[in-house]
Amino acid sequence: MIFVTGGAGFIGSNFVLDWLAQSDEPVLNYDKLTYAGNLNNLASLKQDARHLFVRGDICDQAQVLALFQQHKPRAVVHFAAESHVDRSILGPGEFINTNINGTFSLLEAARAYWSALPDDEKAAFRFLHVSTDEVYGTLGPDDAPFSETTAFAPNSPYSASKAASDHLVRSYHHTYGLPVLTTNCSNNYGPYHFPEKLIPLIIANAQAGKPLPIYGDGQQVRDWLYVSDHCAAIRRVLEAGRLGETYNVGGWNEMANLDVVHTLCDMLDQLKPRADGASYRAQITYVKDRPGHDRRYAIDARKLERELGWKPAETFQTGIAKTVQWYLDNQAWVADVQSGSYAKWVETNYFNR
Ligand code: NAD
Repeated sequence: MIFVTGGAGFIGSNFVLDWLAQSDEPVLNYDKLTYAGNLNNLASLKQDARHLFVRGDICDQAQVLALFQQHKPRAVVHFAAESHVDRSILGPGEFINTNINGTFSLLEAARAYWSALPDDEKAAFRFLHVSTDEVYGTLGPDDAPFSETTAFAPNSPYSASKAASDHLVRSYHHTYGLPVLTTNCSNNYGPYHFPEKLIPLIIANAQAGKPLPIYGDGQQVRDWLYVSDHCAAIRRVLEAGRLGETYNVGGWNEMANLDVVHTLCDMLDQLKPRADGASYRAQITYVKDRPGHDRRYAIDARKLERELGWKPAETFQTGIAKTVQWYLDNQAWVADVQSGSYAKWVETNYFNR
């Protein structure tokens, strides 16, 4: 069994679905179900005995340790986090609590469980921490992409809290010998992405006839990776990564936000033209830039390619085409998330049966 935290979120739920599509090894999915957690993403696993869901908070060390001792996972894959930069600017407290204190608490539970394991299980155990490229700060237009040795320089409460968690994970390896691995990935996109993030927000707003908000001049550059490529990278690092190492994960797809939005508008113009025949680009609206907005992120993922043979399967063009189609085919999912009705669904379907 593997123990996944945050497996009802965007990347976590894609990871759980991918994992169980490729392996019969069960997953214990431990998630607090914040606004970002959505068990509806995992509705296809409702009758699947390989998926065990437990609602809980990674800060609850006693519960986590009890679950470790009861279910004896051979690995922890740690996604649970507060993940939205804008929310971290508005209210950093929850980011410090979950991302720093929560990771610390999870590490303590893992250390207590792991240190009591027999030697062979101890050697096989893994704690994989899922992190972000945002810990490295921002790049100028001509700077080399972030590598694993780039110094951390986080600029938002979100990235600072993730950087702190990365340091804690590293320290548990060097101090206690806990067999840890860390991945630092660029921006993900794909199915089940909460529509507060750029790509799903633009698709949803375009459909709803609402403005398509662009921060500042829209020239902030990000590297984009299709979510199933990130999931494959995590599986590969879990399988063969060198203990105590970090691996950058990226798609070699640097794009300015405005170009991403233009691409989405052009695809929607083809797939679902506006009733008035105008382009969705007409809905683009420039809004005040986010404070401290990083200008450019770019990832050098050659270590992961060289050491572990991972490469992204999707280009931006193929991944974004799948993503747009998914959102068009799953408008009920978007409507549910936006209306908050899925929270009620979770209560009815999972907790009051
Ligand atoms: P998300 O916000 O969609 O999901 C986070 C999940 O964690 C939710 O299901 C939420 O309910 C759960 N959670 C939050 N606080 C919790 C707590 N205290 N205890 C238990 N569960 C809790 O996030 P995401 O986009 O899927 O990101 C997952 C991880 O990947 C995060 O650690 C994030 O930093 C990292 N990451 C994300 C991206 C990206 O582009 N989205 C890129 C690189 C790394």
